[in-house]
Amino acid sequence: MTQDLATLAREKGIRYFMISYTDLFGAQRAKLVPAAAIADMQKDGAGFAGFATFLDLTPAHPDLFGLPDPSAVIQLPWKKEVAWVPADCVMEDKHVGQAPRVVLKNVMANAAKEGLYVKTGVEAEFFLIDADGTAISDAMDCAAKPCYDQQALMRRYDVIAEICDYMLELGWGPYQNDHEDANGQFEMNWNFDDCLITADRHSFFKFMVRSVAEKHGLRATFMPKPFMGLTGSGCHAHISVWDETGKVNMFYDNKDEMGLSRQGYHFLGGIMKHAESLSAITNPTVNSYKRINAPRTISGATWAPNSVTWTGNNRTHMVRVPGKGRFELRLPDGAANPYLMQAVIVAAGLDGIHSKADPGKRYDIDMYQMGHTVTDAPKLPLNLLDALRNFDADESLKAALGNDFSAAYLKLKRQEWNSYASHLTQWERDHTLDI
Ligand code: ADP
Ligand code: MG
Ligand code: MG
Ligand code: MG
Ligand code: MG
Repeated sequence: MTQDLATLAREKGIRYFMISYTDLFGAQRAKLVPAAAIADMQKDGAGFAGFATFLDLTPAHPDLFGLPDPSAVIQLPWKKEVAWVPADCVMEDKHVGQAPRVVLKNVMANAAKEGLYVKTGVEAEFFLIDADGTAISDAMDCAAKPCYDQQALMRRYDVIAEICDYMLELGWGPYQNDHEDANGQFEMNWNFDDCLITADRHSFFKFMVRSVAEKHGLRATFMPKPFMGLTGSGCHAHISVWDETGKVNMFYDNKDEMGLSRQGYHFLGGIMKHAESLSAITNPTVNSYKRINAPRTISGATWAPNSVTWTGNNRTHMVRVPGKGRFELRLPDGAANPYLMQAVIVAAGLDGIHSKADPGKRYDIDMYQMGHTVTDAPKLPLNLLDALRNFDADESLKAALGNDFSAAYLKLKRQEWNSYASHLTQWERDHTLDI
């Protein structure tokens, strides 16, 4: 039964709904709609000028409507009179194929036709920084090996506990919070769920972390590499595939040495096969490529992958199998669009199952020390342009995500690359003035 938002407003004391959609670059765009007007908006959607956001539209296009998904509504725990509700983009009564939440739903529908339901958990690392974004917010947080730093974690207790309390209240099953491997960096974990639920929660998490940080006079960023010598912010995804009851993990095989089923290996094979191109989506910004392939950080390791390799419980590879019946993709970063990153995982995995893809050799080595001995594994792209070119050449992945989406994404991301390339840097002056 569809949740009636006007009724919900009366029952819960909601005064405003934030009808929110996520554009191609991952920005959340919202209209704040008074409860008195929500009944019509629930039917028709809230109107937007799509061109004004990161979508491949012109100013001449008709209105873009954000049609709220009432099953995903979340009352803001820190401002109960407002509820956030993710929306699917519609134009002239048709779903907009390039809109990220629509892309994910389409890919999931294809998986569901084959009885496959992907469940994921994400680890969205972030930094607490000062207002202008150039330094971390806690001057005393300067240890060379700051991971799990108890003292620094407790100096941010008010922020972290407030966010965790909200996740408890929302029923997400949060289970741990820590100071991560960079000064000023934190991670908060909650339980995995269906990939659309995880994508919505991931979006809301980013909004919530930023909002609570701002309440405390701080700024939160999920930027992949905000400080060059420090470990960057990843957004690892843990992945398993379930049957339609949601109770049988089809990746689980107790007899296999890694605890992975044949289907699990094929899905993993699909991720390996498409890794060099799907990084255009899991690592979507110019800055993303300063996290992967990075030189060693002050803490001793980047914790980010550099090559397309997989392994058992070993954090130096792109894919880790930490336990039976799931694997961890360590490639995505904090800039990854919550919907597109799930969509590309499902699309690549599904292709792996169809093509019975082989994930290749498992490497049980320290990739940071011994990576040079691995000669047959592709390197991850060194920059966004390489990743975009790989994605453009990957016809099956583009088709699986929808050609409308893929063309729009490539167009806007190439524009972004060109904007970056036309920017003159101090590095160029330092290295070229006297040549
Ligand atoms: P680590 O830091 O060791 O990589 P975390 O505990 O930070 O792991 O995050 C693990 C994530 O994986 C959580 O979101 C958790 O709910 C999720 N997860 C655990 N089991 C599965 C599974 N079978 N399928 C998908 N996600 C899972
Ligand atoms: Mg206007
Ligand atoms: Mg973690
Ligand atoms: Mg981490
Ligand atoms: Mg992890």
